[in-house]
Amino acid sequence: MTAPAETIFSRIIRREIPARIEHEDDLCLAFHDVAPQAPVHLLVIPKRVIPSLAEATAADTPLLGHLVAVASSCAQKLGLEDGYRLVVNCGSDGGQTVPHLHIHLLGGRPLTWPPG
Ligand code: AMP
Repeated sequence: MTAPAETIFSRIIRREIPARIEHEDDLCLAFHDVAPQAPVHLLVIPKRVIPSLAEATAADTPLLGHLVAVASSCAQKLGLEDGYRLVVNCGSDGGQTVPHLHIHLLGGRPLTWPPG
């Protein structure tokens, strides 16, 4: 099976392009979004390329749990005690623009619902 195509996020993981990194471990990276939609806007990504949530498999379940746990720990570290939102855009209808699975962590202001 061929490896999924790389995106700009792989270049961030390899430090080939700059990013404001909040967290890194063996499995994932959390960094600030270049076009923040809230005072705090991080992206939590697995180091291994999974193009979208729709392409994650049952074997990825522990990794997906880890990404959520890291997002929660970043929210705590960044003082989002009034709350925050995690978003995973999936595919074209979901508004996904970078085909490397990522969790948006948004916070630091009241967020409206429903999203567009
Ligand atoms: P999505 O639309 O859900 O695929 O989210 C992709 C996100 O990646 C958008 O919020 C972009 O602003 C963000 N993004 C794209 N390029 C970069 C970059 N070089 N550094 C940080 N965030 C980026």
